[in-house]
Amino acid sequence: MTGGAPAAGPVIRLAGVSKIYRRGPIEVPVLHRLDLDVAAGEFLALMGPSGSGKSTILNLVSGIDTPTEGRVIVAGTDLGELDSAGLARFRSRHIGFIFQSYNLIPVLTAFQNVELPLLLTDLTRRERGEHVRAALDLVGLSDRMEHYPRQLSGGQEQRVAIARAIVTDPTLLVADEPTGDLDAQSAADVLGLLQRLHLEFGKAVVMVTHDPHAAERADRILHLEKGVLVESVERERPRPVSSRSSSGTPCVASGGRSSPCSASSSRCSFFAPSARC
Ligand code: ADP
Ligand code: MG
Repeated sequence: MTGGAPAAGPVIRLAGVSKIYRRGPIEVPVLHRLDLDVAAGEFLALMGPSGSGKSTILNLVSGIDTPTEGRVIVAGTDLGELDSAGLARFRSRHIGFIFQSYNLIPVLTAFQNVELPLLLTDLTRRERGEHVRAALDLVGLSDRMEHYPRQLSGGQEQRVAIARAIVTDPTLLVADEPTGDLDAQSAADVLGLLQRLHLEFGKAVVMVTHDPHAAERADRILHLEKGVLVESVERERPRPVSSRSSSGTPCVASGGRSSPCSASSSRCSFFAPSARC
């Protein structure tokens, strides 16, 4: 499993982050000295016009891209201090990425797609199978494990993609317009699932969306315009009725199901049924 000490403080801290893309002699300034804290277990929606830099922020937070200036600290790790192997380890342990267009591998079954991130871990085949089944069960697709992406609806494909994002029990879920390609009902299912992962399992979620109704699911909505966070609407949201683990991560029982904590990390986990918060 993905163990390690719980991160103190915010799960994400951007400090004075600027990003300028360079194409030959042309400079494209995207982010300007951005400061942002996202609390452990928070659900943040990020809105803003196309081209404003929303995906750039997600890529910086995920260690896929690097800032031109400033620091990106995620789960207590300053990403600027990691080499490429360290970044790969960081991503596999802390980040679950959900894309607008699912990005499933067409020649692999749902089970095999979800198993992919676990191939980078030292779990045994049997353990991998258990985790994949738990993740697919959580997204309600236990009966579609042997289906290929082309045999699934768009909403089901996105739920498989969510199972793939959570199968490593990451600290943070990063979703880039996860409902952009979905019909209203499938979008509602996917949003409900993200909200459940946040409320029941204490996952921090950063979701980019153009849909104000989708953004309403979040604790906080930030608007990015011309490289700056110009508006922040913070509302009282129902917090999980939770006990709190030592990391401050809520772990709750809901609907008769307990949400156990990972024994090794004290983060919430789907995969350690014997451990309780
Ligand atoms: P958003 O997700 O808000 O639509 P992006 O973060 O994808 O915006 O892009 C912000 C700006 O940065 C856009 O003008 C885009 O063209 C530019 N951009 C993004 N990635 C690159 C890149 N790899 N090289 C050059 N320019 C880029
Ligand atoms: Mg984008």
